[in-house]
Amino acid sequence: MWKLIGPDGKSYDSKKIGSLGGHRRGRIYGRLDCRAALQAIARGGYVANRVFFLNEEDARSAGYRPCAVCLPEAYVRWKATNKSA
Ligand SMILES: [Zn+2]
Repeated sequence: MWKLIGPDGKSYDSKKIGSLGGHRRGRIYGRLDCRAALQAIARGGYVANRVFFLNEEDARSAGYRPCAVCLPEAYVRWKATNKSA
């Protein structure tokens, strides 16, 4: 079982492994091999806020935004539709 964050922002046990990682405090989601996330994990302090999502749809529904480092195209799209944020 994998602990993932669902579209409602709550964690649940999933039989499928999550395809995306995220940061609970920063409300950011990105690739599991994201360079920025791995650097933050190496520095420590990130792991406690590390969350996982099944897919991008769930991450967006839960109120997370794409990571600018590993998902630049999704980030640009998100920025264009969230000018007030
Ligand atoms: Zn990233």
